[in-house]
Amino acid sequence: MNIIIQKFGGTSVATEELRERVAKKVICSKEEGKAPVVVVSAIGRSGDPYATDTLIGLANRAFKEQSSRELDMIMACGEVISAVIMANTIKALGYEAVALSGFQAGIITDKYHGDAEVVQVDCEPILNLIKEGKIPVVTGFQGATMAGDITTLGRGGSDTTAAILGEALKADIVEIYTDVDGVMTADPRLVPEAKVIDNICYDEIYQMAEDGAKIVHPRAVEIARRGSLTLKIKNTFSDAPGTIINGNMGFKGSSYRNANEDNLLTAIAHKNGITQFTVSFNEDSVEESEKFMNELTNKHISIDLINFFTDRKVFTVDEKNAEKLELLLKSLGYKFKVTEGCSKITAIGHKIRGVPGVMARIVKALASQDVKILQSSDSHTTISCLVKQSDMEKAVNALHQEFNLSR
Ligand code: ADP
Ligand code: MG
Repeated sequence: MNIIIQKFGGTSVATEELRERVAKKVICSKEEGKAPVVVVSAIGRSGDPYATDTLIGLANRAFKEQSSRELDMIMACGEVISAVIMANTIKALGYEAVALSGFQAGIITDKYHGDAEVVQVDCEPILNLIKEGKIPVVTGFQGATMAGDITTLGRGGSDTTAAILGEALKADIVEIYTDVDGVMTADPRLVPEAKVIDNICYDEIYQMAEDGAKIVHPRAVEIARRGSLTLKIKNTFSDAPGTIINGNMGFKGSSYRNANEDNLLTAIAHKNGITQFTVSFNEDSVEESEKFMNELTNKHISIDLINFFTDRKVFTVDEKNAEKLELLLKSLGYKFKVTEGCSKITAIGHKIRGVPGVMARIVKALASQDVKILQSSDSHTTISCLVKQSDMEKAVNALHQEFNLSR
C-alpha cells in the first residue's frame, strides 16, 4: 500500500505559511503514489496559545488539585486543534483529508494517565480512509483506554504515535519533520558548528535521546527498532536530505585501538535539570542498601549515575524529584549532601568500546575549560560526566572540538 507516516512537530505547524508548506509535502507524497498518514503535534511551543504547556498552565491556574485524567483531557486538545487545522489546510489545496483523534485512529493505551503506553492499534479506521483516497491526519501524543478515557503518551509523545502507526500499518518509512536539518553531532543551539549525521543506527540515536538529545523520543526509537522500521529526521524549513535511522551497530570487534583516531565519537548529548545526592552510610550491609533502594522504588524515584561506596552512595535524580527525595531521606534519618543545578554531558560512539585513552581526552578537554567533573560513569558505548549547569555549554563545545565532530 506504500504507506508513509509524516509527523510534524509543533514548530513545523506554527504558522499558516508553514502549515501550507507541510500540506504541500504531504500532497507531494500522495502525488508520488504513496499513501501518506499525517501525525501532528500541538501548534507552536511553550507560550503559544494552543501549545501543550499553555493548556497545562490554564488547567493549573484554574484548579489547585488536578486529576491526571482531566489533565490528559485538556492536554489532548492541543493536538486535536492542530489536526483539524491541518486537515482543513490540505482540503483547501484540493485533496481530501480527515482529522482523527488518537481514539478515532484506533490507538488504545493502558490507564497510566500522563505517561500511557500503547497496547493495541486498530488499523481499520485509517486503512478505510486510505482506501477511499483520503489523507488521515492523526493527533500525536494521545490515545484512549479501552473504556474510552483519553490518555497522553508523555513528552515527545507525537514521535511515539508516528512510530506506533508506522509499525501497525507496516509503513515503508516514518518521516519526522522538525526545525533542524537532521540528527546532529550536538544540539545546534549550543554548538553552531554541529554537523548533520547522514545515517545513524538505532542504538546510538536511542542513547542520544535517552541522554537528552530532544530531536526524537527514545520510545519512538525503541518501537522502530522492534519493528525494523526506518525513521527519517527531516527539516520542514529546508529541503536538506535529513538523517536516516536504521540498522544495528554491527560490532564485531573494534578496529579502533587508538583514542586519537578520527570519527571515534558520534555525538555529544546533554541533559539539564539534574540534582546530585551523596548519602552517608554508617554500616556497609546488603540489607541496608536493599532497604534504601526499596524506599526509592516505593516512592517512584528513579536514580541515575549511580556510584556506590562502602560509606556512601552517590547518584543523581531529575530535579523534579529532588524535593520528594530530600523529604524521604530526612524522614528516614539519613545524612546527605545535595548539589543542585547540574547537567549530564554524554559522549556517544559505538567505536569507543575497549579503546583506551578516551576518558583521558575528555578529562583534558574539560580541564582546559576549567570545567569540574562532579561525577562520571560509562558503558561500552558512552561516557557521561556530571558538571554544573553553568558549565554545560562550555563542556559540550569542548568535547565536540576535542573529538573533531564538526569535520
Ligand atoms: P519538535 O517540536 O519538532 O518535536 P523538538 O524541539 O522536540 O522539535 O526537537 C528538535 C530540537 O532538538 C532542535 O531544535 C534542537 O535544538 C534539539 N536537539 C537537541 N539535540 C540535538 C541533536 N543532536 N541534533 C539535532 N537537534 C537536536
Ligand atoms: Mg519533539
